[in-house]
Amino acid sequence: MTTANQTQPLSDWKTQLQNFVNSIERLEQYVTLTDEERAVLAANTTTWGTTPYFASMMDADDPNCPIRKQVIPSRLEKLNTYGMTDYLLWKENRATEEVRPDSIARQYRDRIAFTVTQTCGIYCRHCFRKELVVDGALSLDFNVDEGLKWLAEHPEVRDVLITGGDPFLLADEQLDYLIRKLRELSHVEMIRFGTRTPIVLPQRIDSGLKKVLGGYHKVPIWINTQCNHPSEITEKTAKAVFDLLSCGVNVGNQAVLLKGINDNVPTFRTLHQKLISVRIKPYYVFYCEAAPGIDHFRTPVEKGAELIRDALRGHTTGLAQPMHVVATNIGKIPLMPDYYIVDKDENNYRLRNHKGQLTTIPNVPG
Ligand SMILES: *Cc1c(COP(=O)(O)O)cnc(C)c1O
Ligand code: SF4
Repeated sequence: MTTANQTQPLSDWKTQLQNFVNSIERLEQYVTLTDEERAVLAANTTTWGTTPYFASMMDADDPNCPIRKQVIPSRLEKLNTYGMTDYLLWKENRATEEVRPDSIARQYRDRIAFTVTQTCGIYCRHCFRKELVVDGALSLDFNVDEGLKWLAEHPEVRDVLITGGDPFLLADEQLDYLIRKLRELSHVEMIRFGTRTPIVLPQRIDSGLKKVLGGYHKVPIWINTQCNHPSEITEKTAKAVFDLLSCGVNVGNQAVLLKGINDNVPTFRTLHQKLISVRIKPYYVFYCEAAPGIDHFRTPVEKGAELIRDALRGHTTGLAQPMHVVATNIGKIPLMPDYYIVDKDENNYRLRNHKGQLTTIPNVPG
């Protein structure tokens, strides 16, 4: 008799990364490539690929598969009408007078984004940081100690959002160090991580990581993952999220609104219902940013508000409602539906619901 382990060669996260699907040969173990996909891949000079786990969820015969389109480069990436050059420098306010290490992006007084790596478990074709993680056009210095030193000198920062790349691709020891050092700063009230690992590498949520993240602490850890389509959610994701919650880590979602992937009513509703069913709280849906080469994923500005009106608000569980925002150089700005307040007179406000029905509430003077 053989043991069960011998039949699960890809069951740990490091083996998943060692077998990263980033060559035509490896990709062809999962999908039948079209001639166009093969030609684009052969000429591709950008970083691309994902884990064997996530690759195995691609539809082998459908080039329009939502997972496939997030992983395999498209010839449309060469086109650019709406994208800005040097987008990330603009967006992350790196060209302002305040002196900050490369790793610190700042738009708000009380919270910052701390970039600690440019490695990912999927190189999303729609990534707004693609200049950094996909194209390699921008290079930053991810010196963690320099970032920590800057934070120690900025007591007004109470919320530290650790991002990348994917910070959960750092070793347990590195994450442990980062979290410990942040908790030594008395002004840091919360630590956040942005990571796609619960979706593309749920194997990462293992006993070692749970030890690093878990337990009761005065300074809580919140993570936001990125799930864009219901077919990205599996039992493994459900278990990883349960494990995170069980050790005291809160889990939210930041989806990106992507044309041809999740910009229709049934997909958008199912996505948000399914997130809640695996205990992930929808936090944001991002309007696809003005990064270069991702025009083919971008919808009209109104689309997200329309989807919230037609697929979510009133149509399903209140907990399943994200806020639709656009991330800009001056912070995140809501782009929510605005049909609710129809008009007002001296006595009443008239309000409209998702079905178009009207009601009134008293106009209370200030
Ligand atoms: C997104 C972001 C934050 C966090 O914004 P919240 O709306 O609080 O989630 C903080 N700093 C920067 C630079 C960001 O891009
Ligand atoms: S995981 Fe995040 S940082 Fe990495 S490519 Fe995807 S969106 Fe960009």
